[in-house]
Amino acid sequence: MTIAKLDPIIVVGSGLAGYTLIRQLRQFDAARPVVLITADGGEVYSKPLLSNALAKHETPETLVQKTAEDKAQELNVVLVNRCRALSIDAERRIVKTTRGDFAYSDLVLATGASQRIILPDHAERDWLDTVNDLDDYRRWYQKLGHGAKRVLLIGAGLIGSEFADDLMSRDVKVDLVDPAPWPLARLLPEAIGQRLAENFDAAGARLHMGRYVKQLDRNHCGSYTARLDNGERLTCDLVLSAVGLVPQTELAASAGLAIGRGIRVDDRLATTDPHIYAMGDCAETRAGVLPYILPLMAQAKVLAQVLAGAEQRLFMKAMPVTVKTTSLSLVVCPPNAEVDGHWSVDGHGDDCAAVFHDINGAPQGFALSGTTVARRGEFGRLMPALLA
Ligand SMILES: Cc1cc2nc3c(=O)[nH]c(=O)nc-3n(C[C@H](O)[C@H](O)[C@H](O)COP(=O)(O)OP(=O)(O)OC[C@H]3O[C@@H](n4cnc5c(N)ncnc54)[C@H](O)[C@@H]3O)c2cc1C
Repeated sequence: MTIAKLDPIIVVGSGLAGYTLIRQLRQFDAARPVVLITADGGEVYSKPLLSNALAKHETPETLVQKTAEDKAQELNVVLVNRCRALSIDAERRIVKTTRGDFAYSDLVLATGASQRIILPDHAERDWLDTVNDLDDYRRWYQKLGHGAKRVLLIGAGLIGSEFADDLMSRDVKVDLVDPAPWPLARLLPEAIGQRLAENFDAAGARLHMGRYVKQLDRNHCGSYTARLDNGERLTCDLVLSAVGLVPQTELAASAGLAIGRGIRVDDRLATTDPHIYAMGDCAETRAGVLPYILPLMAQAKVLAQVLAGAEQRLFMKAMPVTVKTTSLSLVVCPPNAEVDGHWSVDGHGDDCAAVFHDINGAPQGFALSGTTVARRGEFGRLMPALLA
């Protein structure tokens, strides 16, 4: 089969990565045909808002900034929503989907990441909620509306900690369980993590750090009883799981592309197939998988130019992340997990500034809490580039 020159660019995924890329692309090339294939409804919304939406009194409806149809028209793309891409025939440049086959000239995978699930003994998958997209939030919002008073939150990382504060803002009692010794343990030194734990506790959360949910049973009245590994029992109305994100790599695997933790891409965001690119939460650059907004913005800028025929390479400076915990203001710029070193912490109480130094004494990451978050620019300038 010959590849028609006019076959479109196909973008799979209508999250912030897919939409940011197309918006950027339209600045360089207004006319090139683009087809956007997406498994969800394609509505424009801010995913980071999902974990503080209750506190902001957002409903699933008010979270939608623009309908998929309006956005498609604005960007001059053909929208194929509620359509799952199933596999890629890279040789014939065809994406097979639940709504038929689509030919492409270039293909961009912006398929994001899904929530990892660890099922406790006895538990069934649909007992555990996850909130990773707008459809999840619709379900979650509806369930909470049925009068849930106590939620068991599994996972005290960035997303789980934000959900803890969000639920407490609506007077929902929270039990937060995590095997780590303190919340956000991969991002914070002990002093700041313990302070966050104290503030959660003061806000009314029950923390079960260093513990995991061994068993989960459903009671006759519809509530759940969790048994922790130390034998402690907790009763709750709903269970929310936030134990980490896994890049969606199945499509890439169907095309035989190189996969590490995510879909491996070079500094042009090209995969191991020259006509297939990946970006956003599903992609793994030389700096690793960076499942945050600022990295995907930088990637979109470069990839749009590459697709328009320019020679561009990805450059990323340090990109601090603001954590939306209301119990303690936090900005984190985590060191690469493979770098050995130690934290040094300055300050006390809520207001601490910590820098992670590698074994040669070079700064490789930082964490700021309380009023010190205002110094993110100053600390950011000390950090090495993520991708030089
Ligand atoms: C609750 C929460 C809070 C967050 N808060 C912050 C924050 O404060 N700051 C920050 O920087 N980052 C935050 N993040 C991370 C940030 O939101 C993500 O990095 C970003 O939204 C990822 O965008 P994406 O487009 O790569 O992926 P996604 O938004 O996951 O989009 C993936 C798209 O691919 C589609 N798709 C997947 N598979 C297929 C398929 N086979 N066929 C068709 N379509 C498919 C999906 O339907 C979806 O449209 C947060 C994440 C979560 C979950």
